[in-house]
Amino acid sequence: MQEKLTLMIPGPTPVPERVLNALSKHPIGHRSPEFQEIIQKTSELLKWLHQTEGDVLTITGSGTAAMEAGIINTLSKGDKVICGENGKFGERWIKVATAFGLDVITVKAKWGEPLNPKSFQEILENDKQIRAVIVTHSETSTGVINDLQTISKYVNSHENAIMIADCVTSIGACNVPMDAWGIDVIASGSQKGYMMPPGLSFVAMSEKAWLANKRSDLPKFYLDLELYKKTIIKDSSPFTPSVNLYFALEEALIMMKEEGLKSIFTRHKRHMNAIQESMKSIGLKLFAKDGYGSPSITSIIPSNIDAEILRKSVKNDFDILLAGGQDHLKGKIFRIGHLGFINDRDIITVVGAIEASMDKLGVLNKKLGTGISIAAKSLNRTVN
Ligand SMILES: *Cc1c(COP(=O)(O)O)cnc(C)c1O
Repeated sequence: MQEKLTLMIPGPTPVPERVLNALSKHPIGHRSPEFQEIIQKTSELLKWLHQTEGDVLTITGSGTAAMEAGIINTLSKGDKVICGENGKFGERWIKVATAFGLDVITVKAKWGEPLNPKSFQEILENDKQIRAVIVTHSETSTGVINDLQTISKYVNSHENAIMIADCVTSIGACNVPMDAWGIDVIASGSQKGYMMPPGLSFVAMSEKAWLANKRSDLPKFYLDLELYKKTIIKDSSPFTPSVNLYFALEEALIMMKEEGLKSIFTRHKRHMNAIQESMKSIGLKLFAKDGYGSPSITSIIPSNIDAEILRKSVKNDFDILLAGGQDHLKGKIFRIGHLGFINDRDIITVVGAIEASMDKLGVLNKKLGTGISIAAKSLNRTVN
């Protein structure tokens, strides 16, 4: 029953009716006063979401466009950068940086483990030529959250380096105070915590990032952020943006403002806790190292069954789409997205569906209902 499909993958995420309704209007002129108002309002709300006084620019393109924009607007050919890699999206940063001729030093951690901030500190202390440290905050492929705050602290005490972060699955899920943590560039995308369809991405730039922009010589045109900055001052945009996605963005950001940052973060934390605890209670293992689970996605190892078989069973019987493992993790893990427009009902339902599917497949070693009971108890607990 396709109409009842519930997305619990880490993007695209479910879209609220209010946002869908905002989308389904006739486009308006992107140079009209009505559209200027939307640009003005959304850029204010984006600053609020990023907890920054700096600019947050909107690009029509997916999250990777924002990642690429972050690199090509702040760096120059041959620049030495450190890339963190503990999953698929860390690998993507390395690919982008390499494609533009940067000199990449890689700091790795085993998939499932967080990056060690000390490794960044050591390299930074011994090399004044580093121009940027580039990391993924919430590594979607493994469900690990990296300690961006501590890594940023080390970057901030370096004279030349800027901090570039992929916050695609952390913005709108957990606290990412851009200015307080001293992050210079943040990339994110609409189909994740923003509760929107794919198509828009966002690049937040600090003062220091704009200074770096002055010396940056990498080729750019469509993603030249200086053009975006110049036009945003006039509440405009350099090219024709996805007008209808801007309608959706405005509505989604208003919804987020109504809920409030703190409530959004505690909701994600409660859901993360409930998923983690319930999955453990039915004998499944978490892939992320203890204490480093992402607020938006949980990776699970079903030791006694192929993860793909379980995932397909949940999809077929319950119309809930879970994500599989990527690369060497295919069949080994499945991932539950609990990012964006997700409520307690979704959590109870997904836990119940997993238990029921395991029971049907003959691999549930606990009493049916154990997971739901633990999830319900966990959801009833307040977190701060
Ligand atoms: C989804 C995602 C992206 C963006 O991918 P696109 O497909 O280009 O939107 C980047 N980083 C992370 C961590 C993600 O989860």
